[in-house]
Amino acid sequence: LGRHKDDRRQSGFSYNGVEFSQSNLNVFAGLCAVDIPEHVEIMMQALEEHGQVCTRMGAYKPRTNPYSFQGHGKGCLPWVFEKAGKHGIKVIAMEITHESHIEEIDACLEALGRPTGVMLQVGTRNTQNFELLKAIGRQSTYPVLLKRGFGITLNESLNAAEYLASEGNANVVFCLRGMKTEAGQPHRNMVDFAHVPAVKRLTRMPVCVDPSHSVGSRDKSPDGILDVMHATAQGVIAGANMVLVDFHPKPEKALVDGPQALLMSELPAFLEDVQLCHDTW
Ligand code: PEP
Repeated sequence: LGRHKDDRRQSGFSYNGVEFSQSNLNVFAGLCAVDIPEHVEIMMQALEEHGQVCTRMGAYKPRTNPYSFQGHGKGCLPWVFEKAGKHGIKVIAMEITHESHIEEIDACLEALGRPTGVMLQVGTRNTQNFELLKAIGRQSTYPVLLKRGFGITLNESLNAAEYLASEGNANVVFCLRGMKTEAGQPHRNMVDFAHVPAVKRLTRMPVCVDPSHSVGSRDKSPDGILDVMHATAQGVIAGANMVLVDFHPKPEKALVDGPQALLMSELPAFLEDVQLCHDTW
């Protein structure tokens, strides 16, 4: 991924017709956790209407509290993938927490005739789950979105990405999602998007920002702009190549992270602003 002294290969890759590189921009707006088919339908229809071909859909949710909703798991894959195909979604970022999930996703996509594609997401809690990273690295069917570890150095997170590449899968996007520290208050995490250019300098991975998990709320500044939008703009102007962002048709009913989800009515302005920031950069 550019961290080996002999590695001078070009950055970026193409997957299912979508380009990922250190110069372009892909928005992955979607549901943090898949809940009911109606919400998935509303989300994907809106994305199609706005020319989007990527989304995020959480089926396997790693939760701090064992009594919280853990995600529908493989049970929701058929209808999520079918709806994605129906609405022209080409890539779904989907977190996995165990290597068996790769097989579940693969079997389901194969059975349906591959109506869409999946980018395997490794969450911040698993950034240093080396056996999981090695298993994901051994397959080359699916690209990977690796979140930075919330409590380790940037260098350690970048080495985690090398575990994927050293096993054979260099189609990796690196995602900044904030650092866990009380000093980050009032945000959920300390927004770390100033690291976008640093990661691009140190590696050849496309860089993603996750403003939803960094900020963690729908708080607005006195100018009426959402902190999530301010953070997104900062990340994109710093050169981010991908934005992973939570939306929900009814945030108050969301089973995971509703308080940080943007409203469907905010999608057009969000997409417009992101494009403007990217064009400016
Ligand atoms: C997520 O993207 O749904 C998520 C749980 O993110 P993180 O791993 O950054 O907490």
